[in-house]
Amino acid sequence: MTTARTIDPHAKPDRPVTVFVAIGSNMGDRSAHMDHAFRALASTAGIRLLRQSSVHETAPVGPPGQGPYLNAVAEISTDLSPHALLATLLQIESQRGRDRTREVRFGPRTLDLDMLIWDASLPGFARIDAPGLTVPHPRMHERPFVLLPLAELDPEMARRAAVSPVHFVSD
Ligand code: ADP
Ligand code: MG
Repeated sequence: MTTARTIDPHAKPDRPVTVFVAIGSNMGDRSAHMDHAFRALASTAGIRLLRQSSVHETAPVGPPGQGPYLNAVAEISTDLSPHALLATLLQIESQRGRDRTREVRFGPRTLDLDMLIWDASLPGFARIDAPGLTVPHPRMHERPFVLLPLAELDPEMARRAAVSPVHFVSD
């Protein structure tokens, strides 16, 4: 088993690292929210948008009564710390009206950005276990709507994520 490396969420990387970010929307003008997410990532200082998957329409997972999602994955390069990147992702969500104080867990949302994998160049999965930030994303391996667009960009990464419940790989 490849050893996972634990990363300090507050440390800026010493070189730009490749990170995969999942993007989803199932409320309001979903396409506009998705476009906004890609544009916002591309225009944030400290982030370069390297590639984006195609946008997939998927059935909702979670409480009943919500509409289908649009899902995609972005491959970015960043020299922000994991913590600063998470703050950026949450800020992009709130630019599209997302308000966590009023929503149901796994319920409908205008825009959701999740950090899937930090530093794709490491042979093992870089691991972050901090309050409010767990990487690899703990539900990634059981979500086809994440694995499919990830596989478009990096089939080997998606295969590794799917075969082992990545978060539970021991150091
Ligand atoms: P999910 O995306 O799993 O459906 P939410 O979008 O409601 O859940 O996220 C709730 C919280 O999850 C966020 O406020 C964030 O602090 C936390 N979180 C933990 N790990 C991650 C991660 N890898 N990427 C994004 N958010 C994360
Ligand atoms: Mg999220």
